[in-house]
Amino acid sequence: MKIANNGGRTVLLTKSGPVDVHEASAGKFGPGPSAVFEHWEEFRAWADAESSAVGSMSEGDQSAWLDTVGELGAPSPQPRQVFGVGLNYKGHIAEAGMKEPAHPLVFTKFASCIVGGDQITELPEGGVDWEVELAIVIGADAHRVEEDKAWDFVAGLTLGQDLSERTLQHSGPAPQFGLAKSFPGFGPIGPVLVTPDDLPDRNDLEIGCSINGETMQLGRTGDMLFSVASLVSWLSHAVPLYPGDVIFSGTPSGIGATRTPPRFLDEGDELVSWLEGVGTIRSKFTGPRYKGPKLS
Ligand code: ZN
Repeated sequence: MKIANNGGRTVLLTKSGPVDVHEASAGKFGPGPSAVFEHWEEFRAWADAESSAVGSMSEGDQSAWLDTVGELGAPSPQPRQVFGVGLNYKGHIAEAGMKEPAHPLVFTKFASCIVGGDQITELPEGGVDWEVELAIVIGADAHRVEEDKAWDFVAGLTLGQDLSERTLQHSGPAPQFGLAKSFPGFGPIGPVLVTPDDLPDRNDLEIGCSINGETMQLGRTGDMLFSVASLVSWLSHAVPLYPGDVIFSGTPSGIGATRTPPRFLDEGDELVSWLEGVGTIRSKFTGPRYKGPKLS
C-alpha cells in the first residue's frame, strides 16, 4: 500500500486511482497523515480492503499522478520526534575515516526541517551536503520493543535527504548535528510512504542520488550495519516512539564533505534521490545564501 500527502490530505494510491482517505472513509480517517498514523492499525484494515478494488492504475499511472500533484507534502509532515543515525554503512564509515560503531549513533533533526519531496530550498552560508537515506515512519507506540517484533511498529518506509551544513556542524569543540541538519527544507521526505509488504524486499533496496544528472551516491539498504528492525528496537529501549515519528537510517558513501576537494550544493543545483519501490524526490537550491547563526 502506498499513501501520499496531497496538500495536507492523505491519499491512498489504489489500482483504480487515487482515493482521498477522509472522504472515502466518511470522515473516519484523516484528513491529514498525522491523524491517520494515530489510528494506523484500523486504517490499515480499512485501506487494505479499499486497495483490493480491481482497477487499472499501474505503477506508472501512479507516478504520473504524483507528478500532477501541486503540493506533494511529506508523508509524515508533523512527526513528534525525528531521529538521525550516523555511520550506518561501511563505505560511508570508511570515507569519513571513522571506526565502526558498536551500537547505533543517534542524533536529532528538528521537526521544522521536514518538508515534502519536491522542493525549492534556500541555501544558507557555508557548505551544504547531501545524504540520501531510507526513512522509517513509525505506526504504533513503541517502547522497549524486541528486534523480532520491531517491524510490527513500522507504518512504512519512505525516502529522505539528511541535508547538513558542515561549517556549523563542525564549528565547536564537538560536532553539533542538531542545528546543522535542521535548516528549513533540510529534511525532505517522500514521495510516498510504502508499507513493508508492498516493497520488493523491505530489508534490501537500491538507494542513490544525483546532482544535475551526475550520480553521487549509490548503495543498497541491505548493507546497513544496523537494520530497520534493530534501529527501531534499539531506539525504543531509550525513548518511546510515537506514530508518525521519522527515523533517518544513515547514508551510503558518496557525500560531498569527504571528497577531494570537498563538494557542496550550489545555487541552481538539482538534487535527485531515489529508493527502489518508493520513488524519487527532488530538491532545487537557490540563493543568495542567507546568514545562519553567528559562529564567532
Ligand atoms: Zn545522515
